Amino acid sequence: MTDSLEKVAEEVSVCEKCPLAASRTLAVPGEGPASADIMFIGEGPGFHEDQSGRPFVGAAGNFLEELLQGIGLQRQDVYITNVVKCRPPGNRDPQPEETGACSAFLERQIELINPKVIVTLGRFSMARWFPSARISRIHGQARQAGSRLIVPMYHPAAALHQQNLRDVLLSDFRQLPAILERARAGRLPALATNVEKEEPVSMAKPPLKVLPSEPEPNALQPAPEGAQPGQIRLFE
Ligand code: URA
Ligand code: SF4
Repeated sequence: MTDSLEKVAEEVSVCEKCPLAASRTLAVPGEGPASADIMFIGEGPGFHEDQSGRPFVGAAGNFLEELLQGIGLQRQDVYITNVVKCRPPGNRDPQPEETGACSAFLERQIELINPKVIVTLGRFSMARWFPSARISRIHGQARQAGSRLIVPMYHPAAALHQQNLRDVLLSDFRQLPAILERARAGRLPALATNVEKEEPVSMAKPPLKVLPSEPEPNALQPAPEGAQPGQIRLFE
């Protein structure tokens, strides 16, 4: 039988593959159109998500909706899910055996939706593509993974109480339309940058500006001139 998002959701709702099954109220498979061009992947359900069975419906979800609206998108336009589909008790970090047990569901969702752009929210979904990367260094930069672009961003919950991270997220979101436009047009760079090499893909319109390499930036500082996150550097 062919796979479908509905089938994944049905399996998730009764899944007992990891200990999180025991403490959940409702599993949260994810939601959005199967045809979505952009997929957002968070960490795991919180209290409100566990109660409702829907992703990003609490305070972090409100902020995510605000960020989407800021670039002319509604939440119905995108697919939203999490690394683990059941709430870790007390919102603790998901454990490796939990993310491991749950990963097959996420992989199927990615395959079924086949989005042009995946935005990872926070370090747990970032780790799926960039296990040893620092979010402070790579946030807002698009990297090519096969035929799509992966854009790591800070988790909206982290930005709720930190104005500086809020500004960083707002600025990273503003890059998304250009990133999406480029991914839609299939204009992935000829210079084959890729995830394995962790090299960012340039979203700049030609001529591309090559910036000198720089020391580890501090995300909480204003970005240096000409090297703002999202403007994206081109490495050769
Ligand atoms: N935080 C997440 O990572 N996911 C949600 O669904 C809600 C809050
Ligand atoms: Fe199953 Fe994932 Fe829920 Fe664990 S978190 S019980 S693997 S659906």
